[in-house]
Amino acid sequence: MSPQVVIVGAGLSGLACARELQRLGVSFLILEADSQPGGRQKTRLIDGFRLDHGFQVVLSSYPTLQRLLPAGRIIPRRFDSGAWLHDGARMRYFGNPLERPTALLSRALPLPDQVRLAWLSMRLFATTDAALLARCATSSDVSTAGFLSSHGFSRVFFERFAIPFFGGVLLDASLETSAGLFCYYLKKFLTGHAWIPSGGIQCLPGELARPLPLPFLRFNEHVVSLRPGGRSLPAVVTRSGEVFQASCVVLALDEPSLQRLTGGGPSPSGRAVTVVYLESSRPLYREKCLVLPEGANRLVRHFVQISNIDPESAPDGRFLVSATVLDPQGLDHEALSDTAAAEIAALFPGSPTKPLAVIDVPYAVPLQPPGFAVKRPAELPSGFIACGDWRRGACIENALTSGLEAARQAASHVRGIS
Ligand SMILES: Cc1cc2nc3c(=O)[nH]c(=O)nc-3n(C[C@H](O)[C@H](O)[C@H](O)COP(=O)(O)OP(=O)(O)OC[C@H]3O[C@@H](n4cnc5c(N)ncnc54)[C@H](O)[C@@H]3O)c2cc1C
Repeated sequence: MSPQVVIVGAGLSGLACARELQRLGVSFLILEADSQPGGRQKTRLIDGFRLDHGFQVVLSSYPTLQRLLPAGRIIPRRFDSGAWLHDGARMRYFGNPLERPTALLSRALPLPDQVRLAWLSMRLFATTDAALLARCATSSDVSTAGFLSSHGFSRVFFERFAIPFFGGVLLDASLETSAGLFCYYLKKFLTGHAWIPSGGIQCLPGELARPLPLPFLRFNEHVVSLRPGGRSLPAVVTRSGEVFQASCVVLALDEPSLQRLTGGGPSPSGRAVTVVYLESSRPLYREKCLVLPEGANRLVRHFVQISNIDPESAPDGRFLVSATVLDPQGLDHEALSDTAAAEIAALFPGSPTKPLAVIDVPYAVPLQPPGFAVKRPAELPSGFIACGDWRRGACIENALTSGLEAARQAASHVRGIS
């Protein structure tokens, strides 16, 4: 018997959609091109080290994730709030002033910038998440760099904090990304703490998928074309030629895959990232936080001794370092590892690191310029709904909420025609 809804894609948005349809009592079938669920959330095991495909953190201020994941199934490994800032000469700790008011006295950043940051934070607390995300769809939205400059933040603030930290979060060292999105993330960081799941980021989609009955999840099923509804039900066709019909089809895809399937113009470009993994037999530092090295010409934007946060990410007696590179400067993997190791050794000369692996993520998040959320996907054929992180700001929380919304739309469509 045909399912009521076919979902194409088992990333976070597709899995959230399936979980909501399951709750609403609507039958579904997921078709996923890959051999496992998770989409852009993948973890690989190399030589006893657990390596995520890109440095990804969860924020405790993501309410939808908390609702969907039962407590106790995932072990969250929490970061300290704050980061080490290295100004080229010395390392200083910069903490979240809301958790440690003494952070305002730290000389990690110029005092006027800290006051501006505190003032901006107060304003963000008074603004809802929905209002911040709505700004991403207005013509008054500006770039993050433009927003910070117009609020008087200094060059030092940009180079020591905004570019290494938010450049890494937005995967955009030039901070051209929407200020609405920057404000949303800043608020999420200020009102929650960052954590990673013990066992790697792929545990998140793994746990989301666990309550879904296995026969309704089909892997290695690459959808190659869509058949619009009309007189007959909408359908999708897979690479093997199999046709799957349903009352409604949810396309829970990354933006380029959606564009390819709907034939809606050239494939949209996104932001890439490369992660250089290094290992050491001696700890570089003890805190559970990022290191933000200052300097425009550096290869490594930020790095973290990830085994401080999740000791199970490395074998006993070894330490794992994840270094985020936004512009690989044309270097091959060997040169990337050597340069990253040398830059980190300059900061921690007593703990030399060795190359472990380099992971390229050619499409990590969509481009999200000012006003990006105005755009909507190409006209979808009748009976099709689209969801995914590109809809309103690429992050775990937004991918999940987008999947839940698509499920509710699909359920009312199904009920409307039954
Ligand atoms: C390097 C990196 C760092 C990140 N850092 C963070 C972070 O710190 N915090 C945060 O909140 N978010 C972060 N994100 C964003 C977050 O991971 C994504 O927003 C989220 O995983 C996207 O989920 P999705 O379901 O929208 O898309 P995807 O995960 O891309 O899922 C789409 C699925 O569709 C499948 N598919 C595609 N085409 C077809 C087809 N034709 N047929 C069948 N299946 C198909 C794909 O295989 C995939 O499984 C990061 C992402 C990356 C890559």
